[in-house]
Amino acid sequence: MLAPTHSLTVHVSALALPEYYIKDSHRERCPMCQRRFHLFRRRHHCRLCGEVACHECTQFVTLVLPGSGSSSARSCCRCIDVKCRVLPLGKEAELEFWG
Ligand SMILES: [Zn+2]
Ligand SMILES: [Zn+2]
Repeated sequence: MLAPTHSLTVHVSALALPEYYIKDSHRERCPMCQRRFHLFRRRHHCRLCGEVACHECTQFVTLVLPGSGSSSARSCCRCIDVKCRVLPLGKEAELEFWG
């Protein structure tokens, strides 16, 4: 498993519930990079918004959940981008990959 490079403080209520996840069948392409999913480009769900994105557009982040500890979870680049701008945690240099 990839080591998380970002740490986000989010309330547990900010996480998308699995029943609200975008269905795999609703996304033929990654909505972030527009590349088509296939056998070797699998769909991954963002824990924060429930969107489907490819491996390259998701990243493991450490979610710090007040009251329930922290866990590592996959998040899409849109969510990391937005949340990191709101909550910079000294990792801004690692945001270059948004490029
Ligand atoms: Zn992608
Ligand atoms: Zn997301």
